[in-house]
Amino acid sequence: MYKDDSRRVALIGTGLVGMSYAYALLNQNACDELVLVDIDRKRAEGEAMDLNHGLAFSGSHMKIRAGDYAECADADIVVICAGVAQKPGESRLDLLQRNTEVFRSIIGPVMASGFKGLFLVATNPVDIMARITQQLSGLDPRRVIGSGTALDTARLRYLLGDYFSVDPRNVHAYVIGEHGDSEFVPWSQAMVATKSVLDICAESGGKYCTAEMETISGEVRDAAQKIIEAKRSTYYGIGMALVRITRAIFGNESSVLTVSTLLRGEYGQQDVYAGVPCIVGRDGVRDVIHLKLTAEEQRKFDASCRVLKDTYEGLQLNK
Ligand code: NAD
Repeated sequence: MYKDDSRRVALIGTGLVGMSYAYALLNQNACDELVLVDIDRKRAEGEAMDLNHGLAFSGSHMKIRAGDYAECADADIVVICAGVAQKPGESRLDLLQRNTEVFRSIIGPVMASGFKGLFLVATNPVDIMARITQQLSGLDPRRVIGSGTALDTARLRYLLGDYFSVDPRNVHAYVIGEHGDSEFVPWSQAMVATKSVLDICAESGGKYCTAEMETISGEVRDAAQKIIEAKRSTYYGIGMALVRITRAIFGNESSVLTVSTLLRGEYGQQDVYAGVPCIVGRDGVRDVIHLKLTAEEQRKFDASCRVLKDTYEGLQLNK
C-alpha cells in the first residue's frame, strides 16, 4: 500500500511528550505513517482521531492510527515516550526503577514483532533508559538513540543568542553529559560563528562577562524543574527536539545533535550512554564528535558519566 521509501514511525506512549512529538511531526510533515501505541489503548485511539481531524488543515498526508506492538514490524523508528512523568522535587534518577519495568513490557514485544529499525528514547532518566533499551533489544548501539542533551543544547543556544543578541543558529555551543543535574557546558568549545565565547567576553570591555556564562548554564540545567513547578511537566520543547532528530534520521542529514549514545572509548569513557555531539543520519549515530576539552571540563564529564554508571550498576543489582 505504501511506497518502499515511506517514513514509518511507531510511537510508544501517547501522553503529553508523545503527543507533542506527534503533533509536531504532523505540522512538519516529518513522516508518512504514524502508529500510536499505549497501554491505555482508548487514549491512543482518541489521540489518533483527534490528530486525523486536523489533517485537512495541514500540508501532510500522514496515515495515523492507533495500533499494537505487532505493527512495529515495519516501523523505521520506534520512539519511546512511555513512562511516568517527573513530579515536582523528584529527580530524574528517582524515576528509574518505575520506568525500567515499563520498558521491560515494551522492548520485548517490539523486538518480537520483527522490528529492524532504530529506537529513539525520550523517557527519563533518558541516558539510562536508552542504555536499557539497547541492552534489552540487543540492537547495534548506534541504532539506539536517547534524546540526551539535545533539548538542553537548544535551550543553551537560545539563551546565548539572547545574551549576545545573535541568531541562535549562529551560536555553536553544547550541553554534554547526563541529561540531568551533572550536565555541563564545555565553555572552551562554545562559539558565536567561529569566535570563542570566552574571547568575546574577554575583549568586550566589560559588556559581556564570563560569570554570566555560569548563570546561563545554571538556567539551562534548572529549566525543566522550573517549567515543572510552573505547569507540572515539559513537553513542547522535547516534542520538537524529537522531531528534529527524526528529520535528521529520515533525511540522512549527518546533522550534529547532542543525543545520548553509547561511548566506546570516546572522551575516555566506556559502556555508558551520555549526551555528546553526534553525527546523526539514516542508520542512527554515524560518529561521535570528540571535542577537545580542558582538564577541568574532562573532570566534569567523567563525574557526569560516573553518576550514570553508578545508577545503572545499582539497577543491575536490583534485578
Ligand atoms: P505522561 O504521563 O503524559 O505520558 C506517559 C504515557 O505512557 C501515558 O500515556 C501512559 O499511559 C503511557 N504508559 C505508561 N506505561 C506504559 C506501558 N507499560 N506501555 C505503554 N505505555 C505506557 O508523561 P509525559 O509527560 O508524556 O512524559 C513521558 C516521559 O518523558 C517521562 O519519563 C518524562 O520524564 C520524559 N521527558 C523527557 C524529556 C527529555 O528531555 N528527554 C523531557 C520531558 C519529559
